Parts: sequence; C-alpha cells; structure tokens
Amino acid sequence: MPRPTHVTIDLDALAHNARITRRLTPGKRLMACVKADAYGHGAVPCAQTLAPLVDAFAVAHAEEAHNLRDAGISLPILVLEGPFDVTDAKTIGDLALWTVVHSDHQLPWVIEHLPRENANVWLKLDTGMHRLGIQIDTLPAIWSQLLEAGFHDPVLMTHLAFAEQGSSELTRQQANQWREALASLPSPTPHTSALNSAAIIGELPISGDWVRPGYMLYGGLSANGPTTELRPVMSLRSEVMAVRHIPQGDSVGYGGRWIAPRPSRIATVPVGYGDGYPRHAANGAPVWIEGQECPLIGRVSMDMVTVDITDHPNATIGSAVELWGQHIGIDRLAQAADTIGYTLMTQISSRPARQWTGG
Ligand SMILES: *Cc1c(COP(=O)(O)O)cnc(C)c1O
Repeated sequence: MPRPTHVTIDLDALAHNARITRRLTPGKRLMACVKADAYGHGAVPCAQTLAPLVDAFAVAHAEEAHNLRDAGISLPILVLEGPFDVTDAKTIGDLALWTVVHSDHQLPWVIEHLPRENANVWLKLDTGMHRLGIQIDTLPAIWSQLLEAGFHDPVLMTHLAFAEQGSSELTRQQANQWREALASLPSPTPHTSALNSAAIIGELPISGDWVRPGYMLYGGLSANGPTTELRPVMSLRSEVMAVRHIPQGDSVGYGGRWIAPRPSRIATVPVGYGDGYPRHAANGAPVWIEGQECPLIGRVSMDMVTVDITDHPNATIGSAVELWGQHIGIDRLAQAADTIGYTLMTQISSRPARQWTGG
C-alpha cells in the first residue's frame, strides 16, 4: 500500500458554508475569495462548486484568474491587488476581469485597458490598515477622474485590520473614516464593500453592499459565535505506521523535546512539515486517532510525527489518523502551533494527494 497520507476536500461542505454565509448576510452580494488556489483547496473545483451560490469571485492577481476562465467560470472575478503594470491591466481587460485600483499610479492603465462596465472598477480606500488603498483626502478627486473617464458605477472598498478582535476601538476608528469618506462623495452613494469573514461573523457595524468572505467558506472560524454550523472543507488524514513502548525518562524525536513522564506507548504517523503539517506544533497538540484525541509529542519531522497513545490502547498500526478536519478543528491546531488556520490551509504541500468529494 502507498503512503496513506492524503488531503480530502469536501465540496458539499463548501456549498453548505456558502449557504450559511448567505443566511448571515441577508440582502448582500457575495464575493467568494478563491485566491491562493482557494486557500489551498483547489481554485477550479471550488469555484465550480460555488458558482451557482455566489455573485462573484476574488483572486489576488490576474494570473490566478486565468485558469478559472479556462475552466469556464464566467462570473465576475475581482483582482484584489489590481494591475502591476500596464500589460497586466491589458490582461485584466482581455480576461474581462474586475479590478481593484489601490493607488493612483494604476489609474492611467485602468483607464486605457478596462471596458466601461458597471462595478468592474473597485477603488480601494485606506481607512487605517495602511497596506493598500488611496488616502481619504484624495478620494473626491480620484472618484471624479473615474467618473469622467466613463466608469459610471465604481465600487468603493476598504479592508479592516482588526476584524478578528471584534468591535475594538481600532475598528471603530476605521468605521468612522469609512463613514466620512462616503459622506465626502457626491450622491448617489456608491456601491461599497468592507467585510471579510471575521467581520461578518463578528457582525461588525460597517456598511457595504458586497461581502468578501474567504476563510469562513472553507470552514475556518467554525468554533466562533453564530457560525458553529460551518463545516470543515479540508481534512488532512493518515494512518499509524509504527508503534513502540518506551521507558519513563527516554526522549522522543529530534532534540529530545519530549521526555516520557511514565512508561509510554508511542505511535508514529507518516505526515510532517514536508506535507504542510506545522513544524511548530507544540507537545500536546491534538491528533485524532480512531475515535480518540491523543497528544502530539516530540518535534515534528519533515516526514513524520509522533503521538502519545498510552491512554488509547486500541490504537495500533493502520489506525486512522486525522491531523485536522472534522474532529480536530483547524483553528484549534493552529493555536497549538502558534499560527493561524489560514497558513495551514495554504501551506499544504503538493506531496499528499488531494481528493475532492461531493460537489
Ligand atoms: C483575502 C481577502 C478577503 C477575505 O478574507 P477572509 O479573512 O479570508 O474572509 C477579503 N478582502 C480582501 C481585500 C482580501 O485580501
């Protein structure tokens, strides 16, 4: 039998999460973020599953939209970083993509190469994240430039830096900047977009016609507030490949990071950081082995991890293992590895086979 480590992508769970997201955002238009190969889930199968359920897609750069168009995805696709140069703007126009303009240096390229269509230009405003976006005092002038160039329905967007912290003072400041910016524009009020997953789930009081979730569609944040109904889409699974007994006081793995506090039974599982399992997972990080959670112990290797199964006498060679998925929430494992679930999803390597189910 080949190495049993594999990734499963549950497209039914993805569709389910899109429906939950719709329910949480009544009356909003839904733009699904499928950048970074749909957060590691496979952009084409995910977009094909989501297409009947959402209004548009978002990718980071034009190249990421190419294979979506090749696969027959005809919904609008917004390029979140906008064109990098004038040729890139031409590609965006040729693929009939929508584009963000985050800086005035992109304006001439967009004016030259984008067709005059509703909502295909999204002007990004810096309300306090200070990563991308035009400054608020330049908004009225740039807005007029867009209208004069014939873009009749640009969308105004911003991005929140503290959505994960809930209704914090810093989010309140960004919300104030957002309101002021909207007030500075001539009527009618433009279409707008501000909310990502954490902002949707945190029900942050910030206006916007379009929501832009990514992470929650893939089942991230599923332990939070009203979203316990979200289902994990990605599972990383394997099987126990070896079992040994070690005496109290012996160490396991590189650098002896874990020393047996009692006579112990140790399972070795063929998954490691070379597959995308986080190297920084701490002693005690949860691993599901056939019906029971057991603690990871010892340092994560490139190809293997070790798990304490002293309290799980039924675990044996060939027992099913889940590293994350239905039993081990990705956010929980991320916390035990001092990272975020986004990195686990996107850093799955090409080594474990990916299998798509449902959809
Ligand atoms: C990635 C991204 C999102 C989606 O964020 P999630 O936290 O995954 O929901 C929304 N807006 C912008 C500008 C992004 O870059």
